[in-house]
Amino acid sequence: MLPPRTPNHSHGVDRRRFLAVVGALAGTAAAAQVPLADASAAPRPDIGFPFTLGVASGDPGPDGVVLWTRLAPDPLVPGGGAPGRDLAVEWAVYSDERLRTKVASGLALAPARLAHSVHVELRGLRPWREYWFRFRYRGHVSDVGRTRTAPAAGHPLRTATLATVSCQDYSSGFYTAYRHLVDDDPHLVLHLGDYVYEGAVGATAGARGTPVPEPARPAPRTLEQWRIRYALYKSDADLRAAHAAVPFAVTWDDHEVQNDYAGTRSQYEGDISALRAAAYQAYYEHQPLRVASIPRPDGGLTLHRGLDLGGLVRLSMLDGRQHRDVPPGGWGEAPASAAAYAPSVTMLGRRQESWLTARLRAGRAHWAVLGNNVMMARLEHEATPGARLWHDAWDGFPAARNRITEVLATARVRNPVVLTGDWHSTFVNDIRQDFDDPGSPVVATEFVGTSVTTNGDREVYGPYYGPMIRYNPHIRYFDGDRRGYQLHTVTRAEWRTDLRTVEFVGRRGGGVSTSASFVVESGRPGAQRL
Ligand code: FE
Ligand code: CA
Repeated sequence: MLPPRTPNHSHGVDRRRFLAVVGALAGTAAAAQVPLADASAAPRPDIGFPFTLGVASGDPGPDGVVLWTRLAPDPLVPGGGAPGRDLAVEWAVYSDERLRTKVASGLALAPARLAHSVHVELRGLRPWREYWFRFRYRGHVSDVGRTRTAPAAGHPLRTATLATVSCQDYSSGFYTAYRHLVDDDPHLVLHLGDYVYEGAVGATAGARGTPVPEPARPAPRTLEQWRIRYALYKSDADLRAAHAAVPFAVTWDDHEVQNDYAGTRSQYEGDISALRAAAYQAYYEHQPLRVASIPRPDGGLTLHRGLDLGGLVRLSMLDGRQHRDVPPGGWGEAPASAAAYAPSVTMLGRRQESWLTARLRAGRAHWAVLGNNVMMARLEHEATPGARLWHDAWDGFPAARNRITEVLATARVRNPVVLTGDWHSTFVNDIRQDFDDPGSPVVATEFVGTSVTTNGDREVYGPYYGPMIRYNPHIRYFDGDRRGYQLHTVTRAEWRTDLRTVEFVGRRGGGVSTSASFVVESGRPGAQRL
């Protein structure tokens, strides 16, 4: 938004700049009429400490990132305790941890209609550098965040470290995984969905045993209730610390709206357009997303997008919920369905799919990575192929899956790796070009990460899914019983994935260990266990 060489204006307001900021936001933030007095008055607090939900950064590019915060002095009540008007917030970016060298600063709008969330799209930073940042509102100063820009386009980056997380049901336990993830110090976190869950929360939050204020308990239906749901999740200090320490690239799965929904359809309620629009808006308000993802008046929101880490990683973040058809074979476990093979059946929607295939074909990076919500590999539930499949995953959309794998196979996409959430289980899979043809080539490797908390310490999937694995020779590893995250260390020679497992989540303080490690050699799809 502002080049780093601009003189600093951390106190008071440069009116010309202020108007530029407001002007830049006007197209997206509706009536961007911020009273000048809000920013130019002496720093006199008129509300309580507003940065209760912490700070975050996300979607790094070579010259900038998105900085995020939200002003909510009382985040678990409707309205968040903020006034009903737009506010102006100061932000500053530094090149050093001790905040001595300010390289950019400015004023951002916190629109009331977006719950006083702040999304600053920085420009003019240097590639592949760490930066530190904070916000200020009338004498209130936020926590300091750390972020990192992406390498310059085509830069011959030697190593990148990515962490993948998904499925963090609040009532299932504590976010201990994030504490260990921060210690592992990855360059980027990919959140692959189920950031919040849509159900009611008990008075003492299930396994947590910590009190939940009454407004935060019901299953959210309204925009205000969805905002409170995100605020409840962000009341966890480990989650806030992770967002303050590492940039995130996020996508969603089903529970950000409703279990297993498809497009605007629910198996329980039919058309859920209004519920979805409220949930999508709250998602945008609480994630470090670019303005390109601002909710549209039609209730949609563009979430698929590309991120590149120099010449090493070409990451495509997918949205596997908003545009999908109702699975033709049924909502859950069901036999393979001929109707699901119709060419018109879509998982990504036509626009996203053509964006993805064009991006895959054009890519030159060493590793082509998909940030994906539900499992791409087949999971045969019985010995007879197709007798029983899980149709909410890509198994419900076989023709759509084949269109992707065909591009991976025929467009000479270099080293495809699929990173996936959803299953509260770990799978390491070979992706075959056509799962109906066991002789078809392996075209990619998939790492399905377990949950941060969901299922908690007691609900194990091993006894149910474990016996099925033998029907699936392309599944190289399965663990349905443990919580954690995955750490991926990427070089030109190999992709290494460590399965990071936390001891327990129902109490604080669980330790972490690596339960298994895998490598994918460049040029040879398929993971090998170390
Ligand atoms: Fe989940
Ligand atoms: Ca899910």
